[in-house]
Amino acid sequence: MKWKQAWIKRLIQITPLIVIFLTAISLSLNTISSVSSSQGHMFALVFAVFILASILVKPLWLKYGLAVVAFVSFFNALPELSFDKLISVMYLTLVLLAFLLPSPIPVFAAAGYYLYITPIVWPEESPAMLQAILGGVIINMILYSLLAFYFRNLRKENVANAKLNAQLNEALLQLEHMAYYDTLTGLPNRQSLMKHLNTDIAQQKPLAVLFLDLDQFKHVNDMMGHRAGDQLLRDVADHLRHFADSSCFLARYAGDEFVLLCSYRREEEIADLAERLVRSFQNPFHIEHKQVYTTSSIGISLFPEDAEEGETLIQYADKTMYSIKRGDKNGYRFFSDIKNEELLRQVRLANDIRSAITKNEMSIHYQPLVELETGVIRGVEALLRWTHSDMGPIAPTHFIPLAEQNGVIVELGEWVLEEACRQVKSWHEAGNAKLTLAVNLSIRQFKSLNFPSRVLNILEKTDFDPALLELEVTESMMQNVEESVPILNELKRHGIKISIDDFGTGYSSLSVLGQLPLDYLKIDRSFTKELTSDVSSASIVRLIIDIGHSMNLQVICEGIETGREVEALRQFGCEYGQGYYFQRPSPPNEIERLLDLKQLHQSKV
Ligand code: C2E
Ligand code: MG
Ligand code: MG
Repeated sequence: MKWKQAWIKRLIQITPLIVIFLTAISLSLNTISSVSSSQGHMFALVFAVFILASILVKPLWLKYGLAVVAFVSFFNALPELSFDKLISVMYLTLVLLAFLLPSPIPVFAAAGYYLYITPIVWPEESPAMLQAILGGVIINMILYSLLAFYFRNLRKENVANAKLNAQLNEALLQLEHMAYYDTLTGLPNRQSLMKHLNTDIAQQKPLAVLFLDLDQFKHVNDMMGHRAGDQLLRDVADHLRHFADSSCFLARYAGDEFVLLCSYRREEEIADLAERLVRSFQNPFHIEHKQVYTTSSIGISLFPEDAEEGETLIQYADKTMYSIKRGDKNGYRFFSDIKNEELLRQVRLANDIRSAITKNEMSIHYQPLVELETGVIRGVEALLRWTHSDMGPIAPTHFIPLAEQNGVIVELGEWVLEEACRQVKSWHEAGNAKLTLAVNLSIRQFKSLNFPSRVLNILEKTDFDPALLELEVTESMMQNVEESVPILNELKRHGIKISIDDFGTGYSSLSVLGQLPLDYLKIDRSFTKELTSDVSSASIVRLIIDIGHSMNLQVICEGIETGREVEALRQFGCEYGQGYYFQRPSPPNEIERLLDLKQLHQSKV
């Protein structure tokens, strides 16, 4: 398909040029061969040279200048032409003028000249013949002008498209670059870390993941303000850079969490490094002329001993770090020390999740999606909650991967969709007829057998308008375009909308995105978090919004926590927002209260 398009483009580019060249050559030859005097020959030659020069030059004033000289010579040679050559020569000049010059006026002028001169120079020709020729001149003048106009427009459109493509590609490159670095500290970010980690794993090198978290960061942030918090993070990043030698890769994972990936030969080397790291925090940092003390907790997981996938290694190191934080803090620990209790917990959760629905432990919270311009609640996102009878609330980021692993997610996802449709339908009936519902999908659910018809069945069962349903997919779910596009198209055929969730956190992003039939782009909350903290973060968000718009998508920003973020996003033209600033995910009765107030957030926007 691509080569076909490229050929059509090329043809549009070169057709006018071919027409111009062939016409100019045949006109020159016609004129030279049909004039009889040497003066006539000279005019014809001047015409040939100047017209070819006018085709080749670029500046418009020069093009016009050379064309004028050429045509003055040509018209001087004209009376010498034999009558039988005249007709073809007249038509050829009209073609040439129409294609050569961007304005139709010279064509009209030449046609007018022919209408005037023909009966004067060849008075002996019959009036009927003259009339036929002059009629032909007029019709040809109109036809050639229209044809040239059409080609010119096609060409312009092509150039504009090429320009847009170039801009988009440039933005893509810029975004991809910015997306790999943390703007606050200049360190590689989470995406970069995962890429590095997966590459190292592919090379089968023994690897240690050191997950480091500052123990007093929240305290500094709360007591001394965000600016001091940011300064501390920058200083800690500089401090950690001393430890990142050729065998270690340092990245900022999120907030006050940093990760070191280190290759090693003996486990003691890593223990020694962790020991030195923990001790190195004994000295204070100097923030805003004050001494700030902070300690660190480090969880360590090892490849290949603990796990063989990057995500799992990070998760294990993170969990180990938390187990230190729950205790004395300020220390390090290996995952193998907590492995047994953690694995037991995982197995238990994975088992319990099967019966969680029937035991009534699952519920759905809703988070409003607000139109930034007006503050009106446009819809809600359904977010699943699990309150385990013994262990209390379990975060969806924890249990959804477990449900995904053992396949329960398909049943769970359908339960969420049905419950949420029923709930939102009742809000429609209570007077919020246009309220939309966004539901998250997981990959296993998306790829389950007959997924679109399962969704449609639920919509029918709950009498829910498909046009008010938005299904949220992620970039990683869409990697196999041939597989996902037909599913998405089938859903869209029934009016269901598709959003791309957590945008910016996937790896292959834009190239894949362009091929999907999407409606909304949801910017991940990690971008929003730094939106107002520095200029380059803001420019990433702005770029994503612009890219979304250039793909005809509406943009939703997640994780809005402050009024300043709302202000910035409105200025960037972002249509919708979601976040704690407006409302945390809440149980249905709280959402009902909000819906009754409807414009509650007007004052906040
Ligand atoms: P998500 O779809 O990106 O959902 C938004 C998450 O951001 C929610 O976390 C929400 O509580 C949180 N959030 C919203 N506003 C703010 C804010 O201002 N600041 C911060 N820091 N966070 C905010 P939650 O509920 O923990 O859900 C996490 C993820 O779990 C969701 O991310 C979604 O990917 C997944 N999930 C939740 N429910 C379902 C479900 O029913 N099915 C599937 N497959 N996945 C679900
Ligand atoms: Mg979501
Ligand atoms: Mg999201």
